[in-house]
Amino acid sequence: MTAALRWGSALHPGRVRTANQDALLAEPPLFLVADGMGGHAAGDVASQLTIAKLNESLAAGAANRDALMAAIAAANDAVLERSEADIALRGMGTTLTGVVLVTDGEEQRLIVLNVGDSRTYVLHDGQLQQVTRDHSYVEELVALGELTPEQARIHPHRNVVTRAVGIEPDMAVDVWERPITVGERYLVCSDGLVNEVDDPTIAEILRTSADPQAAADELLALANEFGGRDNIAIIVLDLVEREADD
Ligand code: MG
Repeated sequence: MTAALRWGSALHPGRVRTANQDALLAEPPLFLVADGMGGHAAGDVASQLTIAKLNESLAAGAANRDALMAAIAAANDAVLERSEADIALRGMGTTLTGVVLVTDGEEQRLIVLNVGDSRTYVLHDGQLQQVTRDHSYVEELVALGELTPEQARIHPHRNVVTRAVGIEPDMAVDVWERPITVGERYLVCSDGLVNEVDDPTIAEILRTSADPQAAADELLALANEFGGRDNIAIIVLDLVEREADD
């Protein structure tokens, strides 16, 4: 590979909720966040089952794009089946986003994927860009010009997602293929971070906190300081120059 990976992560229930329905996996080739939804324990089942299924299918090594898409479809089926088999879990679902290292022949690339309203960002030359687009009610209104992004941030229905894993048999996944670019830093996170900490503040921490684990810890601390009203999942992934021992 042209670059080495360095990463850090943080997972926390926040300051208000006792349960944690967010789940994450940060281990090559998978850097994924899932934010479960559904009554009682159902949300945690959906997010953890989705992450576990992807890990089971892909942890053996760098996947290719087809294997990744098949694994996501299998995770969707697994959540749907559990949901249909257990009335207490009916209607559960989960967001899923993140960065996956894939191999196509000799070439390695990153795939950013998204279903729902968790987010993947990239910091490139000090500029923070949101790679994913939320599948949410407010995002649709922003796209139609009926809300500004600022209004969407505080809208009472900002938590309504329009797409999730485990809800329908034919789930569409948004996918972006990206080259491996040394110096880029990815942030994968649930809405428990972005609803508390605005993008300029996130960008500032990602620019100034050199170590990825320190950056994840700082972002988590700030989300809790600003309210911690939801579960918080954060992965910071750095693409760095390869050293002799990598
Ligand atoms: Mg959430």
